[in-house]
Amino acid sequence: MNFHFPAPPQPFVPIADSTDVFPVRRIYCVGRNYEEHAREMGASGREAPFFFCKPADAVLCASAGPIAIPYPDRTADLQHEVELVVAIGAPGYRVTAEQAARMIWGYAVGIDLTRRDLQAEAKRLGRPWEVGKAFDRSAPIGAMRPSIKVGELGTQRIWLDVNGRRRQDGTVSQMIWGVEETVSQLSGFFELAPGDLIFTGTPAGVGPLVPGDRIEAGIDGIGAIQAQVVDKR
Ligand code: MN
Repeated sequence: MNFHFPAPPQPFVPIADSTDVFPVRRIYCVGRNYEEHAREMGASGREAPFFFCKPADAVLCASAGPIAIPYPDRTADLQHEVELVVAIGAPGYRVTAEQAARMIWGYAVGIDLTRRDLQAEAKRLGRPWEVGKAFDRSAPIGAMRPSIKVGELGTQRIWLDVNGRRRQDGTVSQMIWGVEETVSQLSGFFELAPGDLIFTGTPAGVGPLVPGDRIEAGIDGIGAIQAQVVDKR
């Protein structure tokens, strides 16, 4: 068997303090998983978690220096959502929260970039979210840290600054659905496998980005990333 053209490159995320990299299979995202953010998006209170996807090759990493985020086409309202990213290291389908805990290989800080105007239009028209959420380079992500080095998740601060001003500030314990419950629920819809990433939702304070903006974002004990929005290619 020959591929008719060279197989596409395997997307990956660097692993902190390692020369290994984490190959990416799928990217799942959780919607409205922090109560204050749910409210700022016009929803109310606790609801069952819901999921959407980005393509694996939407990951955007930097080997050194800040991540360059090209301002995408077809939007006038690109927004940042800083999120805890869970990396799956073992297969699982219809698992309990206890089983889910053993599937989590590591964590990273990521930004669920969103063309908010296109997402809002899709919501209004009852259409899919892909053009708002799953566009090229829509998933900047920092180096993975193995969960054994991170330990228990709890009051770790999750934050994002734009041009030195704090926009988003919360703790991972504010998640409506914790990471194990999230993995458990997701595994009821999809067969999870090593290489899957889950963006677990964003705290309040999402907002617009423009070319030239400098972004710093992090989660205590997990990592931090620097990025800069650059003009359309
Ligand atoms: Mn999000």
